[in-house]
Formats: sequence, structure tokens, C-alpha cells
Amino acid sequence: MAAVLVLPSPWPKIRGFLRGWLGLFRGQSPPWAPALAVQGPASLLEPMEEKDGSDETPSFLDNVFWMAVPKKRRTIEVNRCRRRNPNKLLKVKRNIDYCPKCGHAKLKHLLCGYCYKKIRHESSIIKAQIKAQEGGPHRAPTVETVVLYTGEKPREQDEGKRIIERTRKRPSWFPLD
Ligand code: ZN
Repeated sequence: MAAVLVLPSPWPKIRGFLRGWLGLFRGQSPPWAPALAVQGPASLLEPMEEKDGSDETPSFLDNVFWMAVPKKRRTIEVNRCRRRNPNKLLKVKRNIDYCPKCGHAKLKHLLCGYCYKKIRHESSIIKAQIKAQEGGPHRAPTVETVVLYTGEKPREQDEGKRIIERTRKRPSWFPLD
């Protein structure tokens, strides 16, 4: 992962040439000292100490994290072909139906979410009332349960059944039988 780059000193001409050549790109001559090459983001690197005593400030390019960029511009036609590809577009749904009870739109093979929410809310209230009456779900008697709403009285066939009384009008979607 790490390697030490040491340039031998006996070639001062080559060093001078390289220094001037690199200076064209960086705007100044680079600090020419044994350096540690680490593969990773440049922002993680500590500023290295310079052994030859040169007082050159590091270039701002040393702290830039270089990333890959596209080599060629893609035309708008090519981009639109990619973006509007039929595989990427939303499919048109043809299995949408309307709930016969409430009229909300729903999928044909699914329950109406609006009605299901209402029924689930009413069921949770009934369950809470059962829990308050009997102290828990495991003490339920082994008989049928009848839910009576305001203004209803138990019929003859409800004799002996467990009766839960609710203090509201009977919902239209909850018939007695
Ligand atoms: Zn519905």
C-alpha cells in the first residue's frame, strides 16, 4: 500500500529538468524530497516534513481529491433515449376498481384500504372493551360473541352468547348478521 520514493542525487541535471517540467503544470517547483506515496484520499494525508529545508508552501492542488470524469459529452438525444427508455417508465395500471361501499379507488384484487382502516379501528375498540370486561383475551368464554350498538337489544337467538355493548350507532358496513 505504501512505497517510499527516493530520487538519487548523482543526477542533478535530470532533477533540474524534471523540476522545471513539473513546474509547468503545478505553477511552481515541487518539493523534491523522499516522499511517501499512499493510495487513498488526499485529505487524509498529513502534510509531510521537508528534509531539504526548502520553504516552499504546498500547492493547493495537493489537497484536491481527483475523481474520474466523462471523457466525451453525451448528446441530449442519447440522454433522452436513456431516460425515456420504456423499461424505466412507470407501467399503466389497468386493474384499478372502485369500492362498492365507499367509492374510493382500489386495486381489483385487494381490499379497500379506506374501509379496512375503519373496520380495523372499530375492531380494536371492541377488543379493548372485551379486555376491560374480562381482564384479558385468554378468559374468553367458549360461546359466540354478539356486538350490540346503541338502541339494540339482544334477540332470542342471542341468549347465552357473550354480549359486547358499544355506545355508538351501528355502522352501515357492520350488519347484525
Ligand atoms: Zn371502501
